[in-house]
Amino acid sequence: MNDRVETGSCFCGAIAAELRGEPFWITYDHDDDCRRATGGPLTVWIGVRPAQFRFTRGTPKTFSKTPGVTRSFCADCGTSIGYRDDGTANELYLSIGFMDAPERFPPQAHAFWRQRLPWVVFADNLPCIDGYSRERDPAVGYPIDRKCG
Ligand SMILES: [Zn+2]
Repeated sequence: MNDRVETGSCFCGAIAAELRGEPFWITYDHDDDCRRATGGPLTVWIGVRPAQFRFTRGTPKTFSKTPGVTRSFCADCGTSIGYRDDGTANELYLSIGFMDAPERFPPQAHAFWRQRLPWVVFADNLPCIDGYSRERDPAVGYPIDRKCG
């Protein structure tokens, strides 16, 4: 049994949460949707099982632009908290900026490397993956194909 416990909170403090155990995957994400949703040039997502995570204060607001993908954030201060994707069942991705000790979540790869901003330069030797860095349920399809309107 792993007894690692990490906490997270938004900028204003209205939302707080607790993560138990180790993440199964941590990745830089260079994709356009997440860039716009989080407001940064890129982000880092911490992959955990939903059962490892619980809110200890407040309730986030959720938003979905892409069917099957639900993002959560603080309705008061706007801090990105995470997202769920029907294509990756039993996986929850937490925003690195929501965690109280982000330095303890070193990324393991770059996802959507092809969409990185041209002036973002890394000196790491992490794998660079052009699309998703996780296997997805093919029956659900990809968010880009699910966009409507
Ligand atoms: Zn807040």
